[in-house]
Amino acid sequence: MKGMIISVASGKGGTGKTTIATNLAVPLSEKAQLLDCDVEQPNAHLFLNPTFTHSVKVTVPVPHVDEKKCNLCGKCAEICQFKAIVVIGKSVLTFPDMCHSCGGCVEVCPEKAITERGREVGLIERGYADGLDFVHGRLRVGEAMSPPLIKKLRTYQDTSKATIIDAPPGTSCPVIAAMKGTDFVLLVTEPTPFGLYDLKLAAGAVRILGIPCGIIINRSDLGDNRVKEFADEEGIPVLLEIPFDRRIAEIYSRGELIVEVMPEWKERFLGLYESITRIANRD
Ligand code: SF4
Ligand code: SF4
Repeated sequence: MKGMIISVASGKGGTGKTTIATNLAVPLSEKAQLLDCDVEQPNAHLFLNPTFTHSVKVTVPVPHVDEKKCNLCGKCAEICQFKAIVVIGKSVLTFPDMCHSCGGCVEVCPEKAITERGREVGLIERGYADGLDFVHGRLRVGEAMSPPLIKKLRTYQDTSKATIIDAPPGTSCPVIAAMKGTDFVLLVTEPTPFGLYDLKLAAGAVRILGIPCGIIINRSDLGDNRVKEFADEEGIPVLLEIPFDRRIAEIYSRGELIVEVMPEWKERFLGLYESITRIANRD
């Protein structure tokens, strides 16, 4: 049977997204897999302490020009939408960091002067944390192209298990790469004007993708009611509220999991998974 794929997203960082992803995955243990797709700041491993058994560098193809074959016709520069290859005087210059690896320049070169070489964008590591299958990506420092690394990370999905994806924050291309093709999106927010603003953006992106979603309100007793009003208007269920609790803050600051220290929360997260399954199967 195909396992459910749940992405955990938020319009901005710092709302507790990784807390939700890790505490949702751990009670499911051997039946689940956690993919940390927040490749710019992968933090889930700090709470899980996995033993990594597999590590692979991820590269993207970028053009390399053989000047001896090149006749300086300029067709490669004409087709490149990203100005990643240009003809200046008697040279063809490439800018690998700007290349989107579309292969267009290779295709149009009449002299077959362009070949592709790998440019490293990051690293994928896989391991286990108490039976939980864990995979994360680390974007190379200074690297801007996170979607290829996230897409590669998504190929590690084990379809026989429930997959929990810790998505990057925001609503741009990296988040879409992490949410696309998932069965359900959990939107983590806080009951503040900033939280609501980012929630609306994130909910808009999820709507475009046509994926069912639910909301988790973190520090739910600290703000106002407007997140709930928005959820009502949009018909998005609020699936869990986590009040501000000094014990939870201390557990987090020690790098521990709520479900492992407070058993009542293990039941709540298992209940959350059941609710998600019910809603996703109904839709
Ligand atoms: S298309 Fe090929 S031959 Fe023409 S300028 Fe580019 S590399 Fe040189
Ligand atoms: S592969 Fe595509 S994006 Fe990269 S330099 Fe060639 S045309 Fe431009």
